Amino acid sequence: MKIQQYHRATSLEDAYNVLMANPKNHILGGALWLKQLDREIETAIDLQDLKLDEISQSETHFRIGSMTTLYRLESAEALNEWCDQLVRSAMQHIMGVSFRHSATLGGSIMGRYAFSDLIGVFLVLEAELEFHKTGKMSLEAFLHERKMPNDILVAIYIPKQKGKSFFKKVSNTRLDFAILNFAFFKTDDQLRIAIGSRPSIAMLAKETMAFINASGWNDDTKPQALELFMNEVSFGNNQRGSAEYRKQLAKVYFMRGVEEVMKGDC
Ligand SMILES: Cc1cc2nc3c(=O)[nH]c(=O)nc-3n(C[C@H](O)[C@H](O)[C@H](O)COP(=O)(O)OP(=O)(O)OC[C@H]3O[C@@H](n4cnc5c(N)ncnc54)[C@H](O)[C@@H]3O)c2cc1C
Repeated sequence: MKIQQYHRATSLEDAYNVLMANPKNHILGGALWLKQLDREIETAIDLQDLKLDEISQSETHFRIGSMTTLYRLESAEALNEWCDQLVRSAMQHIMGVSFRHSATLGGSIMGRYAFSDLIGVFLVLEAELEFHKTGKMSLEAFLHERKMPNDILVAIYIPKQKGKSFFKKVSNTRLDFAILNFAFFKTDDQLRIAIGSRPSIAMLAKETMAFINASGWNDDTKPQALELFMNEVSFGNNQRGSAEYRKQLAKVYFMRGVEEVMKGDC
């Protein structure tokens, strides 16, 4: 990454105007990913004065500013209490603490990284994104957008839902990217399942979720649910693992994850 000029934005509108002025202008999150890229940045736009690093809550939602670091997310007691520690479990598998003090939620979402441990978690928590100009859209819709919004991610909203959670990252070493990752969240009446790093980006297993939510989880439905899941999710090869290996992992952790969240009350 080579930066020609640095701009410390005074407002969202100011940041947006600079972003629009040149396709080579970019927003800075923690710059950890940007730093890895061989990219010329004409003007790097810093949002640090815009108070986007705050987590607040209303009766129905948590609102997380896009500049919130991964460490603040994992330390957010109220948020983690509501989601049965799901956010914390995922964050703790991402590099070390000093790294997580710099990496931001905004950079993690806007990067749409296929290996992301965070995107699946936010999918099962039904996160909604707020952009400066585009307004609100669900994380799921954002992942399906062919063209990335050329906009500033301002905040992420998480509805308050009590539930049971399970997170699993399978990787070759503790600091490596996932070979596969899973997030499960079960509220009183809804089970949601996301699987990522397939090696494609995380997806919700919607048919499987609908089947289990309608038919329950018992000795009769388990084999059918597993079959549905394996048909619905596609797997591929990359340097971290083969499609066949991922399939074997998926079978084991699908069963383990659903069992875990179906146990007891939420
Ligand atoms: C060595 C390394 C290992 C990693 N390992 C893992 C891992 O195991 N699991 C995992 O889940 N993740 C991992 N990550 C990803 C990491 O957690 C962050 O998601 C990543 O660094 C991006 O966050 P950032 O704050 O550094 O964003 P930046 O690098 O600053 O930005 C990334 C992109 O997002 C854009 N952007 C940033 N903020 C905004 C905003 N508010 N609005 C619009 N656009 C914005 C930037 O312009 C840029 O295009 C790893 C990253 C690195 C560098």
